[in-house]
Amino acid sequence: MKILFLSVFLFLSRLAGYAQADITDAEIKDHINFLSSGKNKGRYPGTKESKRVVRYIVKDFKSNDIGPLDNSYLQYFIARLRVRKGVTDTPHVKTCNVIGVIRGSDPVLADEYIILGAHYDHLGMGGPSSKKPDTVAIHPGADDNASGTAALLEIGEKLAANRSLLKRSVILIAFGAEEQGLLGSKYFTEHPLVPISQIKLMINMDMIGRLNAEKQIHMGGAGTFSGGMELMKELGKAEGLNPDVHAGDVGGSDHVSFYKKQIPVIGLHTGGHPQYHTPEDVVGLINIAGEKAVSEYIYNAIIAVSERAEPITFIDQH
Ligand SMILES: [Zn+2]
Repeated sequence: MKILFLSVFLFLSRLAGYAQADITDAEIKDHINFLSSGKNKGRYPGTKESKRVVRYIVKDFKSNDIGPLDNSYLQYFIARLRVRKGVTDTPHVKTCNVIGVIRGSDPVLADEYIILGAHYDHLGMGGPSSKKPDTVAIHPGADDNASGTAALLEIGEKLAANRSLLKRSVILIAFGAEEQGLLGSKYFTEHPLVPISQIKLMINMDMIGRLNAEKQIHMGGAGTFSGGMELMKELGKAEGLNPDVHAGDVGGSDHVSFYKKQIPVIGLHTGGHPQYHTPEDVVGLINIAGEKAVSEYIYNAIIAVSERAEPITFIDQH
């Protein structure tokens, strides 16, 4: 009888564990709501609001048993902020990347890494990168890139709960100061914390909250490692997605910093829109169910690459 109780208890607690670890619409929405809320004032580097967002990401990593890669989750760097043409006084602020790791289970492959990244910063109250540079208003950046940050947390949660499936290790990075010129990812690739030759793939999510009616998930860089094109096309089926897979077209966001170091990359997004870099990039326009499908798709890609027996090698795309 005792044994029966024990096994029922274990079964139920496992179910509860899996339920919590799922990628859910509700959690994606909660994360985007928080990140893009008025009180975080557009997540501008160096501000107290940016620091609050950093604490939120660290807390989420900790609660999902995702450890730091170094002694700390925070990798600090100095960011030179963009200014308007003609302004000669260039402000420098201290900001950081937030980095967590989920160790793989294979004794050899665990020393190889797949990086999943998304920038958490945005434009604050506007400024030179805004499409409305003369407007001083909170730029909430719900799609750019609260959407990617939310997916980073949700995929991280699911990977951590299913870490026994991982052979290679996964590093999660919320990058700072992307909007100031890919500064966080540049800093990381100069100070990678693991041997850079051991980084086998970098997957970047920047603006993945606007899945359209055709369910197109766009990506560049899938030809930077063997089998990448086929894998990313094939995985779309399970989530009912329509992957728009490009071998090259590596551009635009933090994955570029890794590509320059000859690391395979995939940069994902759901496309541009009129609200890009304006105060109108709000949570109400996010396709939450669409983002969940995209997150599951990326989760499946990470599991597939982490399990792969063949070596993952770089293919240059000109
Ligand atoms: Zn962005």
